[in-house]
Amino acid sequence: MPIIAAIAGLLLLALVFGPQLWVRRVLAQHAVDRADLPGTGAELARHLLDEADLQSVAVEETDLGDHYDPTARIVRLTAPHFHGRSISAVAVAAHEVSHAVQHARGEPAFTRRFDLVSKLGWIERTAGIVLMASPFVFAVVRSPALLALEIAAGVALLGIRVVVHLATLPVEFDASFGKALPVLERGQYLEQDDMPAARSVLKAAAWTYVAAALATLLDVVRWFRIIF
Ligand SMILES: [Zn+2]
Repeated sequence: MPIIAAIAGLLLLALVFGPQLWVRRVLAQHAVDRADLPGTGAELARHLLDEADLQSVAVEETDLGDHYDPTARIVRLTAPHFHGRSISAVAVAAHEVSHAVQHARGEPAFTRRFDLVSKLGWIERTAGIVLMASPFVFAVVRSPALLALEIAAGVALLGIRVVVHLATLPVEFDASFGKALPVLERGQYLEQDDMPAARSVLKAAAWTYVAAALATLLDVVRWFRIIF
């Protein structure tokens, strides 16, 4: 029995943290600076935005993860992708610009996703409160069943985030393969030999939010950060 429990535990950990590790590995693998590339991620983002007639959308550096902010209309890239001349920088920049294009065109799937994601904040806070309260409730009531129930409820609430990001994956795949990939192919920003690597990065970029949401499920440190 302990062996089955250990295997089940390992499978669970692989399911929860595996996608995040994979996304990070793919991005790191192709983050090597390449002097032969025509520009940095930030320069490419600016160029692609201008080409799409989106001069009003800014490009900024961030340490909160690469994303497009529809409220401020800003494409934000992390330092390695903002300053870097790598396949990861090029592909991620093209992916985030594609979100700005989805937004500018008023694509319904993008708008729906934005509405859904903006509602996730309070669900996360509720989950945080439930999880944080559980040790105190246990100290008072001393019921392991209630403790397990509270933790299960908190994790289930965090699971809503996974479901939302899974349901909105088509928006991510459209950004990567419906828009960014054809733009990279047409513009010949990368050599043909680099395209398979670019495709891997675009795939990882599309799965980023699902992977992050999965990892949140068992990220105890983050549970505490949600509240404080
Ligand atoms: Zn995206």
